[in-house]
Amino acid sequence: MRELFVATRNRGKLKEFEVLFTGVVDRLLSPADIPDVPEVTEDGATFQENAVKKARAAALAIGKPVFADDSGLVVDALGGRPGVYSARFAGEGASDNDNNALLLREMSSVPTEERTAAFRCVIAICFPDGSCRTFDGELEGVILDSPRGTGGFGYDPLFLVPEYGQTLAELPLDVKNRISHRGKALVKLKEYLLLS
Ligand code: IMP
Repeated sequence: MRELFVATRNRGKLKEFEVLFTGVVDRLLSPADIPDVPEVTEDGATFQENAVKKARAAALAIGKPVFADDSGLVVDALGGRPGVYSARFAGEGASDNDNNALLLREMSSVPTEERTAAFRCVIAICFPDGSCRTFDGELEGVILDSPRGTGGFGYDPLFLVPEYGQTLAELPLDVKNRISHRGKALVKLKEYLLLS
């Protein structure tokens, strides 16, 4: 496949997608390359609804297949929050630092054994006729009480992957991509694209 369009403006995600699609597509195009892509309000109640909404709006606008992901952090001790609100946990326009600081505050009295969490991701690919397919992935981990590492983005410095004894911000990107929620969902999308 020569080109595939991804509807994301998140630079951290785009970097991961570019690595993950090496050898599958020649060029991954994003809204930076095609200005006609509308911004959508991510007001769905689930990752699936939001992923479909983003990919479908872009596919209808540009008349080509488009994929998009919706992802976030689901923390057990917080009843599943921030979930679909992960990007704006600390408010509209919040930075990664703001979100991480709020997460640490909300988790300050939660004991180690109850700090379990998961990253979840749903990737939707939609076509110009409005039809879509979705693929999901999950990574389980533990929320630390202080950040570790400088790689990745979002909540990565607070998310310990117990099997590796490192946070997602400490692990090299190729390892993160192999084990992450997004990596797992993307493997399913790649299999679908190669078979169809
Ligand atoms: P979305 O762009 O609406 O899918 O928002 C996803 C948000 O979830 C991001 O802004 C991050 O806060 C968080 N998130 C999703 N995936 C990751 C990840 O791989 N590492 C760290 N944070 C993530």
